[in-house]
Formats: sequence, C-alpha cells, structure tokens
Amino acid sequence: MSDDIVSHQQEITDVPPLDKDAASLVKGIQRHYLRTLGQHTESHANHYKYQALAYTIRDHLMENWKDTKDAYLKKDGKRAYYMSLEFLMGRALGNAILNLGLDDNVADAMHQLGLSYEEKVELERDAGLGNGGLGRLAACFIDSCATLSLPVTGYGIRYEYGMFRQLIHNGYQVEEPDHWLNYGNVWEITRPEYTQRVHFGGRSERYHDDQGKVRMRWTDTQDVLAIPYDTPIPGYKNHTVNTLRLWKSAATDEFDLSEFNAGDYTEAVSAKNHAEDISMVLYPNDASENGKELRLRQQYFLASASIKDVLRQWTREHGEDFSTFADKNVFQLNDTHPTVSVAELMRLLMDEYRLEWDDAWAITTKTMAYTNHTLLPEALERWPVHLFGRLLPRLLDIIYGINAQFLSKVAEKWPGDVERQRRMSIIEEGDVQQVRMAYLAIIGSFSVNGVAQLHSDLLVEGLFKDFYDMWPEKFNNKTNGVTQRRWMAWCNKPLSSLINNTIGDAWITDLQQLRKLAPSIENAEFRKQWADCKRENKVRLAKLVKSTCGVDFAPDAMFDVQVKRIHEYKRQLLNVLHVIHLYDRIKRGDTENWTPRCVLIGGKAAPGYYMAKQIIKLVSNVADVVNHDPAVGDKLKVVFFPNYRVSAMEVICPAADLSEQISTAGKEASGTGNMKFMMNGALTIGTLDGANIEIREEVGDENFFLFGLTAEEVEKSRGHYDPNAIIASDEDFLRVMNLLECGHFSQFEPGLFAGICGAIRSCNDPWLVAADFRSYVDAQQRAAEAYRDQESWVKMSILNTAYSGKFSTDRTMEDYNREIWKLQSIRPASA
Ligand SMILES: *Cc1c(COP(=O)(O)O)cnc(C)c1O
Repeated sequence: MSDDIVSHQQEITDVPPLDKDAASLVKGIQRHYLRTLGQHTESHANHYKYQALAYTIRDHLMENWKDTKDAYLKKDGKRAYYMSLEFLMGRALGNAILNLGLDDNVADAMHQLGLSYEEKVELERDAGLGNGGLGRLAACFIDSCATLSLPVTGYGIRYEYGMFRQLIHNGYQVEEPDHWLNYGNVWEITRPEYTQRVHFGGRSERYHDDQGKVRMRWTDTQDVLAIPYDTPIPGYKNHTVNTLRLWKSAATDEFDLSEFNAGDYTEAVSAKNHAEDISMVLYPNDASENGKELRLRQQYFLASASIKDVLRQWTREHGEDFSTFADKNVFQLNDTHPTVSVAELMRLLMDEYRLEWDDAWAITTKTMAYTNHTLLPEALERWPVHLFGRLLPRLLDIIYGINAQFLSKVAEKWPGDVERQRRMSIIEEGDVQQVRMAYLAIIGSFSVNGVAQLHSDLLVEGLFKDFYDMWPEKFNNKTNGVTQRRWMAWCNKPLSSLINNTIGDAWITDLQQLRKLAPSIENAEFRKQWADCKRENKVRLAKLVKSTCGVDFAPDAMFDVQVKRIHEYKRQLLNVLHVIHLYDRIKRGDTENWTPRCVLIGGKAAPGYYMAKQIIKLVSNVADVVNHDPAVGDKLKVVFFPNYRVSAMEVICPAADLSEQISTAGKEASGTGNMKFMMNGALTIGTLDGANIEIREEVGDENFFLFGLTAEEVEKSRGHYDPNAIIASDEDFLRVMNLLECGHFSQFEPGLFAGICGAIRSCNDPWLVAADFRSYVDAQQRAAEAYRDQESWVKMSILNTAYSGKFSTDRTMEDYNREIWKLQSIRPASA
C-alpha cells in the first residue's frame, strides 16, 4: 500500500522542467488564464491577466523551491529562523521575474499577447505586513539569504489587514483598512498539515510524572490553531527558493460539539471569530509600544507556532535527542516583539520533552540571538505582570525562574549591590509590576546586536550598560543594508542598464563592484547618460505626483525628498521650517541665483499619534499656500505624497536628487531609506545619526551635506536648551515662526498649529528642532548651490552610487552569518 503511494508520488513529481522561452511563457499565461482562472477572451477584469502571469512565474519558482527543500534536508546542516512580527514585502512578481532571469522573456511574451508588462505588474497589491524600516529590513534580509543560498526561514504572521491605507482629506490623514487579500494571493500556499495548536489562559500546575518526578504542566487552556501559509523567496539566479512561513489563527473545532448539541450553533461560530482576531490586523505603531493584550497574543502566537514547527521538524529527523539541537538551529529575534520565544523554547523542552532546566537553558541560550532596533524609551516593551500571568501563566513561571537564576549571578558578580539587582531585574517593580522584554531577550540570547555602529555603541554605553558589564562578549554591531535587487536592479532599470554597460552586472550580487564606476566621473559622455537616467526617473515620478497630488513637478528642479514614517524624532518639522524659509525668501524677493526645488514629503502617522498627524496637516497646508501663490511659480513646489509604501518607494528613490536624513542625532538607530537613496545616486543632507555616519564615511564629506548637533552634544544640551533665544537671535527663523504663528498657513482655522509652535519653543523639546535650524538651512543652501553646478553634482551623484557597496543586505547577512549564525551555504543541484 505505502509502496503504491510512493510510486504515485514519483509519477506526480517526475514532470519535465519548464521552458523559459517567450513562447512557452505565452502558453503558460494562456493556460492559467483559461484553466486556472476560468476566464475567456472577452473578460475585461484586468487582475486576471496579472494573475495569469503571476501563476506562470510561480510555476518556475515551484521547481526551485522543491529542489531547495530537498537540498536542505539532504545536507541536514544548521538552519536559522528569522522571527519577526513584520515583513514589509511589497510586490512579489517583478522581483521573482528579475531573480529568475526571465525579465526579457516575460516582456517578449507579454508583447506577443498584446499586454502591457509594466501595467500588469502594478496591479499586484503590496504585501504591507509591516510598519516601516524594521519590517522592510526583514524583507531585504530574507531576499539576501536566498541569494546567498543560506538555509534561513522567515516566520511571521499572515495579517488579514496589513498596514492601513492612508488617504488625505482636507490635509488630514484618514486611515482605511488594507484589504490586500481581496483578490486572492497567488504567492501563498497553505499547509494545513503543519497546523500548530497555541495555548492561552488556564493555569500552571504541578504533577507527578510516570517516574514519580515533580513536573509542571499548563492546563485548562483555551487553544487557537495556527495555520501556516508559505511564500516562496527566490534567490538571484541561483536556483534557490527559501520560505517565508506566515501563521493565520483559526478556532479549534472541539467546542463545536457541545455547543452545537445544545443548539448554540451561532454562539459556537462566533467563538471562531475570536480566535481569528489574533491574525486579523497589524498594529500600526512604529517605534512605540501600545500595551494592548491582543498584541501580546500576537507575539506569543508567532513564537509558539514557529518554535513548535521547528521542533516538529527536529523530532521528525532526530527523535527526542536534543543534544545537537543548538548546533543545528538558531533563532534571530527581530526586536523584542518575538522575545517570549525564549520562555516558550524553555517550556517546550521541559514540559513536552522532559529536559531538565539546566539542559533546556543551555540549549535556549545557545540558539537565541536578539537584534535591538531603537533607543527610544517609548519603544521598549514592557508587559504588566498581571496581564502576562493571566494570558501566559506557565510562561510567567519560567520567566520568574530565569530571573531568579540571573539575579543570583548578578549578586555573585557584584555582592551586595542591591541597586544593580533592582536595575537589571526582568521584573520592574512599581505600582504595576512589568516584564521587561528587552532584558529577557538579552539574558536569553548569546548575541545582542544594534543596527549601525553608533547605535551599537550607544546601546552598550547607555541602555544596556549593566548587561555589557556582565557579558561584553554578547554585544556586537551589524549595520543594516537593503537589497540591491529590488532597490536598484528592479526599480531603476535605466540606471541599471547604464551600469551593466559600463562595469558589467556582477554588482547585482556583489555590490562593492560599483566602486568601478568611480573613474567614470571623468567621462563627460557617461555623466550625460547618468543625468539622462536620473531625468527619466524624475519624469516618471513627476507623472505619479501629478496623478496623485495634482501638482506639477518640473524635472529640471531639484527633487528634495523625505519619505519615512512620520515621527517627531525624524523631524519632518525641521524640513517644513526650511520650506517656509524658502517661501519667505521668495516672497521677499531674495531669489538671486535661485535653485528651483520640488519638495516631496510622505509617510504614515500612527493613528493615535496626535503630533505626527498635525505635522501631516502642516505639510499639506504649507503645500497649499506655496503651490497656489503665483509669486512662487516654479521656484518651489511642495507635496505631501499620500500612502507611502514599498511600491511607491520603488518610483520615488530612483528620482530623488536630495535625500533628507535629518533625525535628531542619537535617535535613528540606522535608517535604511538613506541607503536606498544613496544607491540610486541621491546626495544626502543629514545629521551624524545612525547609518548616515557610515554613508558619509564611505562617500566622503565632500559628497554629503552634513549639519546639526552630534549625539554627544544633544545629550549635553539637556537642561540648558533655550529655543526662544535661538529663534530671537536668528532673523530668518523669527520670520518663519511669525508666519506660522500669525496663522498664514491656517487661515481658516486660527490657532491650528499652536501645539506645533509650542513644541518648537519648548525648553523640553526632546528633538531639538530649533537647535539645528540654522545649520540645516545653511546646509540646504550649500546643497542648492551645488545643484546649480550640474557637472559637479552629477559627479557627486555617481560617487554616491559607486560607494554604496557596503549597504547591501548581502554584506549584512554575511556579517550575521559569519559572527552569529555560522550556517553553511547550500546550493540545490540545478535542473
Ligand atoms: C525603506 C523603507 C522604510 C524605512 O525608511 P527610513 O527612512 O529608514 O525610516 C519605511 N517604509 C518603506 C515603505 C520603505 O521602503
């Protein structure tokens, strides 16, 4: 009988490999259109045409996916799991086509079918399962791991609703739900056979096992099912396809029977909805926690389902022998969000597989690694002990156990230092006791990293100093990156082909090759081609701005761009003050040697973040006044670009001349938007913050517009910061504040921006907007003057691209792998 099944399976899987030529692609598209999607030639619904193409490309991924899994199984090497509550993937189709090397053939096939390739690709909905940088980083990481043939699986949540869609009504942000799955999702494959059961509630209980030993168990729980949905993650032309496994929550059906028999069918079905709440919606907070119980449920849901999934695979291959588990598995925790994994692995090893505490702890602390993403205190996760204990009682026991052992080590190392024990305890004392997730992450991990050199330095000098004193060897830096496949090769076709024609295409998997462009700055013909590419991209963005904002951007003006989440520390406000200053200069006739500018600001505000939403309104109102003033004309245009997301960035970053990276020094852990812009030949105006420092190091100070206080100066300014004195002594600043305060940008709503003005004038402004105004305006003036000399600007642009090699996530992943994961790269046998 079983022999029968095996031979059948071989029949099923022994199909000839797919052909990649245009004619075969045409056949594939037609077949999926007619047979998979059931359409006929008269159908006018465009998305079926996108889907037919997507299914055709997916067929090609499927073969590589299977070969990759086979190769990993056969090799039985060490594996890594990237645990993240967010994966900001964007669209998959174009990236898959690029990585499969099918770009030309697909264009040809679509042409033969009389379909527009570019138009169909844009019908795909963004997978917006993340807020911003942290989620996009996860997406770039798994792209690079696939390209490096590293056996890394991404684990996350399949949110029914991702990041909200941002509309702008009368200058205000309005949030709409993101129904990204409405037209189905071609890229996901459900794996119901790997469903996991996740516990909540109940209580923990002592009992005697069959050998009479006292053990703990978690009983009377309310369970939820976790159903995995797998998405293929293709490497670049290397036959590798890794897996992103996202969990959807669902009700168990055992309660149905009793309720059903009692006639309470509808009650039973509505309980199902409760279970499905867990994976319903992404929390739209970036760099701040919100302490909601459902969020803790999501965190544990991801942790438990994923670790159980890893243990399922382990026991299938190795039985219940965990002696080599830590040599073969490593979990990378993307911020503290999945940190309950530390306690969950302990629980499963002890309660399910009967390991002793010390053995389980040895395994846990050899397999967990933690990445910190921020120093902002409002982002540090703490959960009230009472909430934690009610939701996850057995996990809280284990955390108490970890803490007790840890504090005794602290006491051993620093005898009598009770204050230090209090500081370092996982449990924060106070009116409401709290579980400090970052401390659990540090104590439970063998590696703790920051995401840019400055950030990692500040971590060990400040926030984590006590832990650094205890375990200096745990701490390390891994500077972020971005994948050049999506952020250059795919989204900037004009520049990519110019680069290919100049230095070849090896840069697509070895970004340091771009250095070879540097000598070409002396070649006038090359510079002209470079400028032509930038112009083509600016025309494309101008079209998008016209259609979404109704404003004309002139392609010869300087495109000055700030796109990122709206947050006070990122200082969009400083950017607006500069825009008002330019407006004021124009109105006063101070326009000699003027550089026309188009300023684009975009990004989402957390729905509960009042100040961020006010800043959006301010940008919109300033834009309204500036764009409609005939005296301004083409000298200055301003837009607030709505619904900033991955697919928008793919059009924006190739078209930028000036990249705004103007956070208060010491606050932006790394930034990755800065890297996308640099790679695409924008110059940065920025502070000495996050990866800006490393960008400036790579490209040289002469190709970077630096301004502002250093992180050290920011810290020293506390206590004697006097913004009103700064404003009063700077005529330009004074005029800007007068315009704001006299209601020039809020004619119909007097006093609308009083909160913003008050924040700028407050001695307690943590973001020191006023402190950096003058040096920012001066740096902007240098940028404007530099732009007027186009020959030299283009040289600087080329050098920015040429020296962006460090900022590939291929490098970042090699660093993680060499110093943390230690995986072998495994290439599947190519077909
Ligand atoms: C790159 C990216 C970010 C991160 O931008 P920062 O400037 O580093 O904050 C956020 N959102 C999207 C859509 C991105 O592509």
